[in-house]
Amino acid sequence: MSGLAEELQADVIVAGAGMAGATLAVALRRGGLKPVLIDPVAFDAQLAPTFDGRASAIAYAAYRQWRALGLADALDPHAQRIEQILVTDGRTPGAAAGAQTPFILRFDSDEIADRSEGEPLGYLLENRHIRAALGEAVRAEGIEVLAPARVAACEFGPRAARVSLADGRVLSVPVVVGAEGRGSVVREAAGIGVVGWPYAQTGVVATVRMERPHEGVAHEYFLPGGPFAILPLTDNRASLVWTESDVRGAALKSARPEVFQAHLERRFGEFLGGIAVEGPIFTYPLSLQLAERFSGPRVALLGDAAHGVHPIAGQGLNLGLKGAAALAEVLVDAARLGEDIGSEAVLERYAAWRRFDTVTLSAGMDAFVRLFSNDNPLVRLVRGVGMAAVNRVAPARRFFMQEAGGAVGDLPRLLRGEAL
Ligand SMILES: Cc1cc2nc3c(=O)[nH]c(=O)nc-3n(C[C@H](O)[C@H](O)[C@H](O)COP(=O)(O)OP(=O)(O)OC[C@H]3O[C@@H](n4cnc5c(N)ncnc54)[C@H](O)[C@@H]3O)c2cc1C
Repeated sequence: MSGLAEELQADVIVAGAGMAGATLAVALRRGGLKPVLIDPVAFDAQLAPTFDGRASAIAYAAYRQWRALGLADALDPHAQRIEQILVTDGRTPGAAAGAQTPFILRFDSDEIADRSEGEPLGYLLENRHIRAALGEAVRAEGIEVLAPARVAACEFGPRAARVSLADGRVLSVPVVVGAEGRGSVVREAAGIGVVGWPYAQTGVVATVRMERPHEGVAHEYFLPGGPFAILPLTDNRASLVWTESDVRGAALKSARPEVFQAHLERRFGEFLGGIAVEGPIFTYPLSLQLAERFSGPRVALLGDAAHGVHPIAGQGLNLGLKGAAALAEVLVDAARLGEDIGSEAVLERYAAWRRFDTVTLSAGMDAFVRLFSNDNPLVRLVRGVGMAAVNRVAPARRFFMQEAGGAVGDLPRLLRGEAL
């Protein structure tokens, strides 16, 4: 064991200071444990406007966790309430607003106001603001951050996990959490395989400013190339997630601004008046990737390292945040009971808690992508009938809204807005 390991005396190494890893670290610290965050990218570099141009739809239960962790003051000014979600099958944008067509799903925050305590369906936040708020919280809690530093290898012994960094340092802790995204080194070192496949689709992301008010309405259009989402942001802007084939995605990314604008106007329509692109265009390859297990002796997987899903319903980070809430609760409670927090039995509690929800949701998203990225007339008819049925049956609609709000099932304390 190196001298540094003794110096740190950490309870948990969180490999990966992305949004899931940083949330877990803050939750653990609040619960009295000592986490160390490791990331090859310095926090300050994560905040640059060119680092991550995405915005995230955050379910109201996941947002409650950030409030419970003290992030409300930093996040609230940037959080756009989602009051309504309109889903349309293969029509031009704007068709859903006020229309009577049955091939539309309409979710309204008023319908679940009694159960969500008046909270909206969720919030839209730009990732750079989330990263900034988490960076501030990590500093305020005095959490040790090793960045830039990269986890290169791990060994899982009977009493400790030994983590080797790329710069030669070796750290020893009771448990290591792999939160380094899809290419998790910790997952690989633990011998945990993945299942999944690429979608041959690219998510093209841009921020636009609109002429007419969006009124907190999120739109999702299912088009043959993939879904096209208009997600309302503060200051009457919107984040677009425009899914296309890889070839079209690459062409859009490299298109001249006036060419991109022309394609965008054709896709977006005129229902929100003139639109102007703000900032760079980003592209993300899309795939499904599920870890075969979420834990093992002295190791747990969190966020995209455990489950990478299609952004069709904005659930990827939400799953990671639910995982952070569950893992923090399991580890903090185990420590309070004097258990070994890295034991297989403790970590299996986390895996068992999250497995069913994660696998069913990921499979559901995958089926959705296949069903909706398809222009076969029969498939269109079937999905239209399905959407109409869900729309007519209020309990079914409420179920989807509760699910999207992240408030179903056995909720960890942080997702109920309670302290650990
Ligand atoms: C277009 C698009 C739109 C999306 N929209 C939404 C949405 O609306 N709502 C939603 O909930 N989700 C959404 N998602 C999904 C969401 O963005 C991801 O699920 C989320 O960012 C994953 O966070 P993470 O912290 O698990 O992983 P990452 O963000 O991948 O972070 C991993 C971190 O690990 C670090 N790292 C890498 N290698 C190492 C190493 N060897 N050692 C240490 N650290 C390492 C990296 O530098 C990084 O900081 C969207 C995704 C896409 C592509």
